[in-house]
Amino acid sequence: MKDYIKVDEWKIIEEGFDPKYNTISESIFSLGNGRMGQRANFEEAYSGETLQGNYVAGVYYPDKTRVGWWKNGYPEYFAKVLNAANWIGIDVVIDGEQLDLAKCVVSNFGRELNMQEGYLKRTFHAKTSKGKQVAVQAIRFCSIADDETGAISYTITPLNFNGSIIITPFIDGDVVNKDSNYDEKFWNEVKKATWEDGAFVQMRTKKTGFEVATGMKVIIEQNGQPVKLNAQPIEQDKYVGLKSELKAVQGQAVTIYKYAANLSSQNYDAAALEDNLKSALLRISGKGFEKMLAEQAAAWAKKWQHNDILIEGDASAQQGIRFNIFQLNQTYTGEDDRLNIGPKGFTGEKYGGSTYWDTEAYCVPFYLATADQKVTRNLLLYRYKQLGKAIDNAKLLGFKDGAALYPMVTMDGTECHNEWEITFEEIHRNGAIAYAVFNYVRYTGDEQYLTDYGLEVLIAIARFWSQRVTWSEDKQQYVMLGVTGPNEYENNVNNNWYTSKIATWCMQYTVEVIEKVQAANPEKYKALVNKIHFDKEKETSRFHHIIEKMYYGYDEKRGVFLQQDGYLDKEQILVKDLPASDRPLNQKWSWDRILRSCYIKQADVLQGLYFFEDQYDIDTLRRNYDFYEPRTVHESSLSPCVHAIIAAKLGDEARAYEFYLRTSRLDLDDYNNDTEDGCHITSMAGTWMSVIEGFGGMRVRDGKLSFQPFLPAKWESFSFHIGFRGALLNIKVSKSGVQIKNTSGNEVTVLVYGKEQLVKANNELLIEA
Ligand code: BGC
Repeated sequence: MKDYIKVDEWKIIEEGFDPKYNTISESIFSLGNGRMGQRANFEEAYSGETLQGNYVAGVYYPDKTRVGWWKNGYPEYFAKVLNAANWIGIDVVIDGEQLDLAKCVVSNFGRELNMQEGYLKRTFHAKTSKGKQVAVQAIRFCSIADDETGAISYTITPLNFNGSIIITPFIDGDVVNKDSNYDEKFWNEVKKATWEDGAFVQMRTKKTGFEVATGMKVIIEQNGQPVKLNAQPIEQDKYVGLKSELKAVQGQAVTIYKYAANLSSQNYDAAALEDNLKSALLRISGKGFEKMLAEQAAAWAKKWQHNDILIEGDASAQQGIRFNIFQLNQTYTGEDDRLNIGPKGFTGEKYGGSTYWDTEAYCVPFYLATADQKVTRNLLLYRYKQLGKAIDNAKLLGFKDGAALYPMVTMDGTECHNEWEITFEEIHRNGAIAYAVFNYVRYTGDEQYLTDYGLEVLIAIARFWSQRVTWSEDKQQYVMLGVTGPNEYENNVNNNWYTSKIATWCMQYTVEVIEKVQAANPEKYKALVNKIHFDKEKETSRFHHIIEKMYYGYDEKRGVFLQQDGYLDKEQILVKDLPASDRPLNQKWSWDRILRSCYIKQADVLQGLYFFEDQYDIDTLRRNYDFYEPRTVHESSLSPCVHAIIAAKLGDEARAYEFYLRTSRLDLDDYNNDTEDGCHITSMAGTWMSVIEGFGGMRVRDGKLSFQPFLPAKWESFSFHIGFRGALLNIKVSKSGVQIKNTSGNEVTVLVYGKEQLVKANNELLIEA
């Protein structure tokens, strides 16, 4: 846990330069616009510890799998989002010495991420070993208004000398991934060019053949006047730069405007990249930095109108929640159904930048409520389009007849994960994908989606479950053998309650949707049946049989669902009784010891009770929560949010708040000592859920929004925006009650504490406390 980030409601602020925090800050101050993103590396050279990272969404490399012992069924490759060409670089040489904060005396250092307007600002004074002092201010952003572009303004002011400053803005495609399995470089150069005031490099990924053209256009001003660039072009392997020498005059600012664009062959013909890149550079440089920045601020203002959560009376919580919302919006904008949300987004390499069940289980609610419904639809379509590969993936493991197993980790639909206990066994992920379809339709009412795409996915998933269960002669019931639940601290267990529960739920939901689609659109239904050779009677009767005869472990004495067979045989020492020095278990204990213990990494049975809460009474929820939470170490960032929501539902407001705090500032305070690897983007959606579903008690009931809010004791009030079926609501929970403003032209009926309330178009109402 660190607390070097200064509290501010709209900004993330670091004051003073401490190299030991640099890689952490590089993650926290990351920038992105859904299409591309980057860590907060310095523009000028830095020889200290740093993790360089520039990423282009959807551009990946299948790195050859590296495992100790190969097992049949393992994927051959792990798809990684690539560290791509560095477009921020500006090399600065002051009177013969390179500006490098690891070698200079640094003072007045400040880094500021302006979340309201979407830019990063860095200021510092540096003194070289020859005593030359400069003041620097760098501002940069990835444009969300024009998402293939970004811009930097970099100002150097000589403080105590007249002399020479050599400035070389450059694009460097010669980059590596830290997590490369075989220390391989993943890019080859296709072409490059330099011209009077610009340059570009076009690179191609090995194996996947993505091409990305990255270019810059440079404008320099001194003392507010444009400087004629007599730049010396530099072209090296995978690198282009423009070197200019200026006469430095004490007190006269030199500003380098670097306009950059990053275009990928996902969106253009590779042969057309260069021309399109050049016109993008002309477009943005013609607009100018200030105008681009103003457009950026306006685009962010629009996002905040639908996204912001306002917390009064707790600036640190306010900063925390805004940071989460800001990063989620930087990671995924929903405009492209080939893209998804990596657990680290554009903030680091860990997890390969690929898609996990995190998207469906944790991120979908955020996008449903804060963005146009097409955003979530695109997330669902991403999986729909990968259905063929999910069927291939299941085939590889021995399943047949159109059964689909979606991958645990993927970029393009192919499984990338390569630990057998996860790849083959953590199959509950399939359920989350079906649940997201259900969640989307429940929220939006878009039943047409089921006909067009949803049912096909659901049948393939249900087919998988129907083959994955085993009929136990002994029990005369179906069992689910050899699985890993969400709690990855147990592997290869039998009858993980959550997995069995979601499996039968998938079959049940599929059967319901079959009936719905058949009735609503018999023609399309028939076409689907033919396409996938679906034998309704035979297959649904098997689904029904499994639903009816599924075995679920239950402990009568405690009245709880059994996480898995044999769970109660474990030594039952509660987490609170573990010595603090043993935590986190995943760093302090052997894997063997973890597996034999009763400790739970993240919500497992409780994940099921969260998803299916309508099926259980409050006492069942309480008994299971009271039993499992004290055994849970929350060593996945995805854990606290589910617990916050359940604690809130059980009326344990203090605990709900405590859980919320664990994720709200997880990265800002580097709670888990791992922020240097990147931020926990997908769990940020969980933080949002803690506020909206936890404190706000928001649910969808029979096509209506329902709220059961409470105000955390430390707060004066909180308010949030929700979009629901054409209505835009702002809900404010304060000591005086619950105020609901409808800022749209559509009236809507909501439930507040169980009572129906009509909120008329462009109107508001107050439900007094
Ligand atoms: C969690 C998984 C999650 C993954 C990526 C793991 O630590 O246990 O549930 O999908 O991280 O966020």
